[in-house]
Order: sequence, then structure tokens, then C-alpha cells
Amino acid sequence: MSSDLGSYGVETICDRCGDELDRVTEVEAITDRDLKLLRQPRRRVNVNIPVRMDDGSVEVFPSFRIQYNDARGPTKGGIRFHPAVDESEVDELAFLMALKCAVVDIPFGGAKGGVIVDPDDLSAGERERLSRGYIAEYQNIIGPHQDIPAPDVNTDAQVMAWMMDEYEQQAGVQAPGVITGKPPALGGSEGRTSATSYGGAVIFEAFVEAIGLGGPAELTVAIQGFGNVGSHLARFLHERGVDVVAVSNAGGGTYDHTGLEITRLFEEQPADLAAVAGETITNDELLALDVDVLIPAAIEDQITMDNVTAVQADAIVEMANGPTTISADRYLADVGVPVLPDILANAGGVTASYFEWVQNTSNDYWTKERVQNRLGTQMQTAFGQVHETKADGDDRSWREAAYVRAIYSILEAEQYRGNISR
Ligand code: NAD
Repeated sequence: MSSDLGSYGVETICDRCGDELDRVTEVEAITDRDLKLLRQPRRRVNVNIPVRMDDGSVEVFPSFRIQYNDARGPTKGGIRFHPAVDESEVDELAFLMALKCAVVDIPFGGAKGGVIVDPDDLSAGERERLSRGYIAEYQNIIGPHQDIPAPDVNTDAQVMAWMMDEYEQQAGVQAPGVITGKPPALGGSEGRTSATSYGGAVIFEAFVEAIGLGGPAELTVAIQGFGNVGSHLARFLHERGVDVVAVSNAGGGTYDHTGLEITRLFEEQPADLAAVAGETITNDELLALDVDVLIPAAIEDQITMDNVTAVQADAIVEMANGPTTISADRYLADVGVPVLPDILANAGGVTASYFEWVQNTSNDYWTKERVQNRLGTQMQTAFGQVHETKADGDDRSWREAAYVRAIYSILEAEQYRGNISR
């Protein structure tokens, strides 16, 4: 790999959306005028939410909901509670949700919401009142056929349950389809917890075959992040015969070049991965392992211009959102390392959320097997379409192919609605 990195810059994930749109206009027959609709969100709403605290005082929490694009259907996206969440970050995340729904062809647009709060500072009662307050304030713009929230950073199934209940109380109807990620007792879907990883495993198989790496049983992988996504994915890949040689969490990782005992690690979920059998490695060492496929499944901005030249893997599958900075992504494209982008690789999660909404709105509930079968088919179809789009274009990366596919799909819907001239 070249050591001349000067031309690659040092942008982060937050620059990605505008930049990717620019790249699409450079290589595609899409005019800047058509893209105007996608350069900014359709609707951005802000509310300062008053919450009665346990000591009787009232605190006010700034919040927002961003509905990026609804041409393909009701908008969909999580609500995060975080002290550092800001509107421009949520804009980007809402945009990525619109692309993700389009790339797997589910009839939703993209949205995201946030509340500026440190949830660790709240009691359970205060958390509930904040969750209910959020829905009370935004109830006119959300709904099963308008905008469907979901969990995100620091919001979980319990928060979704409070939010659904608040919406139903305000609306005076039963409406489980207003929100996804609910507990199964309130209409949550079987198979949702592992759906992102199940979809990822299906996509992994299709991807390694498409790029000629060989069958799963011939491959080694390293997975950064052993939380929900990473640990379930390790298990699904292990079941397919892949040698998972390294896994890590925030505290460090473990490595065994003959393959780790994934079934045991999954069952035990040890907090200290470095202490289990295998060689202790750091996260930086994991990212630099000489494996067939590297799978970042932890947090954003992990493969950057500071460490990309150390990457030895033949391919990367992005299970986390935004794990590769745009500069590092360009560098990898230049040196011929294929990167399967997040908007396709981890879209199994939102696809299963769509299945939850289908079950809620039809009142017909599915088994886990049925969820996984449909998920597998939907992911294979999406992969096939992105692969076709890649093959259609000169030298397109997998990321460009996925973006092009998604953007064309959104623009086609906008055109039929009359929002873009033919
Ligand atoms: P999680 O909180 O369950 O797990 C995150 C894992 O990353 C943990 O093992 C944690 O220790 C590890 N980690 C945190 N900081 C780290 C660091 N600096 N270095 C190495 N490891 C670190 O989260 P999750 O639900 O598994 O999500 C992982 C990623 O996948 C996130 O980017 C998330 O946005 C994305 N994602 C998740 C879903 C889903 O359904 N859960 C869907 C789509 C995308």
C-alpha cells in the first residue's frame, strides 16, 4: 500500500452524505437539480420537552425529529437519548435510513430523532416521563402511516413500550404499528434481536461468492465488537463453517488462528474477552489481522486514515454504522479492497422492523423461522440488485452501487409523485 496519504483528507462519517451525493452526480445521469430534494431533510421539528423530576423540579430537554424523505412510504428511524447528540448528526442518520430502506426495497422513508440528555442521570420514572413527553410532543407527526420510530442509542424495548402506550392513550386507539423494537408481549417481532446479524450472514455469503473469495468454510474472519450484532453474527458465521479467529469489545479482544470457540463465547458473553482462551489482542491489532474478511461491528469511525494502511484483510463487511471514514474508504477502493457498505450489510435490522410493522398492521403474527426465511430472501434480492448495479457501472465500488441503487429508487418515487420534472 502507498504511504502517500496526503490526497485522502481526514473527513469523518458526518461528511459522508453530501459527499456521496456529489460522487453520484459525478458518475451518474442525475442532475444536481434532481438531487436538491435529497440534500436536506423534508421536515425538521424541534421541541424543548419539560419533564417533572423526582424532586419536584422541572427540567427541559431539547429534542428533535427529522423526517428526511417520505417518497417511498412513511418515514422510519430510531430515537436516541444522548448528551452529545446534535441535529446535523441526526440529519445524516435520517438520510442513511432513507437510503437503507430504499436499498432493501422496504416501503419506508428515512427519519431519526434525538433528545439531548444523559440517560444515566435519570431515574426509571424520569426516563419514562421523558419517553412519554417525547411522544406527546410529536404525536401529530408520527403514526403507523406517517413516521415510525424505533430504538437507537440508549433507548430500548421498554422505552418503545412506554412510547407506544403514550401514543395509544393520546390517539384513543390501539396502534402497535406506531413504533418497532417493542417487547414481543406488545407486538414486537420474533427474531428481531438477531435479525441484523442474520441478514448480515446471508449478505456475507453472497458477497464472498461474488468477489471470488471462496465458500464460507474456506474463510477466516475477525469481528470488532461482540455486542448484539457482533456476537450473533459470529454465531451465524460459525454455523456456516467460517473460522472466526478474533473478536473484541471495548476492552480488547481474543485471537486464535485456528478459530475461536464461538458457541461457548456466545453463551458465556464474557465481559473480559481478553481473559478467555486465545491470544490477547488490542482492537488496533484486530483491525490489522491477516484474515479473509474484516467485520467492524462496534461503533463508527474505526477504520481511518490513521490505521487503514495496516489493514491486511482481503475484504470488509461493515456491520456497524459508518465504521470506515470516507477517506479511508476511498483509499481501500484505490488499493482494491472491496468494502460492503453498512446501508446494505446491516439492513437486516430495519427489514425485520418492517416485518414487525407488517405483523402489527395485519394482526397476523409470524414465527421466528418465517421472519428469517423472508429476511433471507429480501437480503439476497437486495444484494443481487446492488451487484447488478455495480456490474452496470464502470469501476463502481460496492458503496457507490448501493448508493446509486437507493438514490434512483427514491428519485423514481419522487418523480411519480410529481416532485421532480421528467
Ligand atoms: P452493542 O452496544 O450491543 O455492542 C457494541 C459492541 O461494540 C460492544 O461489544 C462494545 O464493547 C463494542 N465497542 C464499543 N466501543 C468500542 C471500541 N471503541 N472499540 C471496540 N469495540 C467497541 O451495539 P450493537 O447493537 O451490536 O450495534 C453495533 C453497531 O451496529 C452499531 O454501529 C450500530 O449502530 C449498528 N447497527 C445495529 C443494529 C441492531 O439491530 N442492533 C442495526 C443496524 C446497525
